[in-house]
Amino acid sequence: MMAQLHPTHLLWLVACQMTLHALVWLGAGLLLRESRRAVAHWAVFLLLMGAGLMLAAQRGEPRLWLHFNGANLVTIVAFALMRRGTESFMGLPRHDAEQLAVLTPVIALIALAGPGEATAPLRVVAAYLAQAFIMMRTMGTVHRALRQEFGRAEMLAVVVPGSAIAVSLVLLAAHQVMLWPRPAEMQTGGPVNFWLMVVYLAGSSLFSFVFMVMLTQRLVAHLRHASVRDPLTGLYNRRAIAEALERHWLRHRRGQQPLAVLLIDIDHFKRINDTLGHAAGDSVLMHLSSLLQRHVRAEDIVGRMGGEEFLLVLPDTLSAQALSLAERLRALVRAEALGTTISIGIALARADDEQAETVIARADAALYRAKEGGRNRIELDA
Ligand code: GH3
Ligand code: MG
Ligand code: MG
Repeated sequence: MMAQLHPTHLLWLVACQMTLHALVWLGAGLLLRESRRAVAHWAVFLLLMGAGLMLAAQRGEPRLWLHFNGANLVTIVAFALMRRGTESFMGLPRHDAEQLAVLTPVIALIALAGPGEATAPLRVVAAYLAQAFIMMRTMGTVHRALRQEFGRAEMLAVVVPGSAIAVSLVLLAAHQVMLWPRPAEMQTGGPVNFWLMVVYLAGSSLFSFVFMVMLTQRLVAHLRHASVRDPLTGLYNRRAIAEALERHWLRHRRGQQPLAVLLIDIDHFKRINDTLGHAAGDSVLMHLSSLLQRHVRAEDIVGRMGGEEFLLVLPDTLSAQALSLAERLRALVRAEALGTTISIGIALARADDEQAETVIARADAALYRAKEGGRNRIELDA
């Protein structure tokens, strides 16, 4: 089969596949808003890879600069964009200065070498080593961030094929050195160039597949985050805090371990909005949110019920502990000069509560009494 397959046919095939992948990334970039910079870089990377291979597929007599030197240059620029895109995807700083410093001499060498056979081996070695260098540097800069965000398996799914490609390119360069002065350009066929096509084919498929999976994972993580968080304060939203309460309430029922909730409401918050403006009101909400998060235990859950009302779910907490936390929070809000005070209603889960919501209703009743009693106060549900 290999005997019948002309080497340039293989080049065309791989070029078409990379172009198709580029179109898929372009589509992804248009449809999804996620990581657009990276996606745009990858689309152009694959388009240029396809273009480079198509140029190489047209190599013949007379030897045109575009088909020989041009193909090499396009491929190197493609790799440089791949690195740029991948680092941008992982939110890492750019390495444009390093890429420019290393690649400019290589690019100049290839551009000036001329398309003739005499300089071909030098060109081939320079092109393969440049690609291998970019690939290894990319793996070097992104592997830690990949593992942190996506996990070990995803990191390996990038780094193992990436390193295999880099090693293959170095071996191809070594092979060309051994053949010196005979050129081993990719249109000339043979098992070594067949291997290069396999590496490109498998590499670009894997690359697109693995990064598309990670893009989806990132999208899902963002959506999940957005669905449980309040956008202004970053606290759990009403639905999420209600779910958390439900979970702990069921646990309380099974194990009878104590469970307390604090319902916190800012006093005369409307006045802040009315006198200082809505933005000042928002800033008070954000400050209070961060104060609450800083002063609860890791297992406590803080949520925004809406407006200027917050709910703290405190597992394994007795009324004395709930009271002392409430008192601490009340004093802190006064001391931190947020320009306001808070009132707090406390309730503990009871055996006769029919549902989790009942606990909140009792905290709400206590809060109402705190407001009636003059605000800046704490009331415990009797
Ligand atoms: P009380 O002491 O009785 O709790 O009085 P209050 O003024 O705090 O309570 P009220 O319920 O009358 O007013 C709540 C105000 O909170 C009214 C509303 O405009 C404001 N508010 C609700 N959500 C937001 C928000 O996201 N940002 C800002 N800045 N204001 C908000
Ligand atoms: Mg209020
Ligand atoms: Mg209120």
